[in-house]
Amino acid sequence: MLEAKNVKKSFDGFRALKGIDFSVEKGDRVAVIGPSGSGKSTFLRCLNYLEKVDGGEIIIDGTRIVSEEKGKAVYIKEEEVRRATAKLGMVFQNFNLFPHLSVLENITIAPRCVLKREKAECEEQARELLNKVGLLSKAESYPGELSGGQQQRVAIARSLAMNPQILCFDEPTSALDPELTGEVLKVIKSLAEEDMTMVIVTHEMGFAREVAGKVVFMDDGEVVATGTPEEILLHPKEERIQAFLNKML
Ligand code: ATP
Ligand code: MG
Repeated sequence: MLEAKNVKKSFDGFRALKGIDFSVEKGDRVAVIGPSGSGKSTFLRCLNYLEKVDGGEIIIDGTRIVSEEKGKAVYIKEEEVRRATAKLGMVFQNFNLFPHLSVLENITIAPRCVLKREKAECEEQARELLNKVGLLSKAESYPGELSGGQQQRVAIARSLAMNPQILCFDEPTSALDPELTGEVLKVIKSLAEEDMTMVIVTHEMGFAREVAGKVVFMDDGEVVATGTPEEILLHPKEERIQAFLNKML
């Protein structure tokens, strides 16, 4: 469903991604962990076309959006890249809701403007999604009137409104006060129970162990190891992973 091969990305000569291999199958729940600066966000941003790669391949649902020719990344037509990457939903650390739009408008704007769907139909779906994240009563509120945890749940509903095939989270709880992380993790867990395909960058090791079927450990722009939560989090072979986990405890 999603495959990345040898993905490379540099910023002014600094190699943030040194050749990432990564794959996600339908129904997978992949947790991406690793130290700060290891390239986790950069990699997600490359998958979502928020950042262009310098080399390697990315294949989304059968569409190869970028390949490497003579050491350079070559993308297919912008329009086709957008169509493929629209299959990936993205939930950021800082929610990124539109402050001047109501909760309902935040959720319906992309389906209406991008997918050109009817307003009434979008609002009906938005209310269903708000119900799912436990915020139906906040439909007419503005982001500034909500707690961080509530804003993040709206952000999740907003992503789901585009019917993504894969939902990507970049540290969805790390901007939240500890008492608010639970409500967001609960929503993500409920999506996992519905078999949503997900890629979750997280520092919450307990959560990774609970929801992920596969854990990818990144360090210094590389994938150091991929395995089950048990293999990576409980019995890691690599010293780098052991050191990282010890620091997290
Ligand atoms: P964290 O856990 O702190 O979120 P991360 O694993 O997500 O870290 P990235 O944000 O992907 O790490 O950053 C990887 C490296 O690339 C870092 O050294 C960072 O400084 C660098 N980097 C990321 N984005 C840019 C950019 N736009 N310009 C320059 N350097 C960047
Ligand atoms: Mg990051």
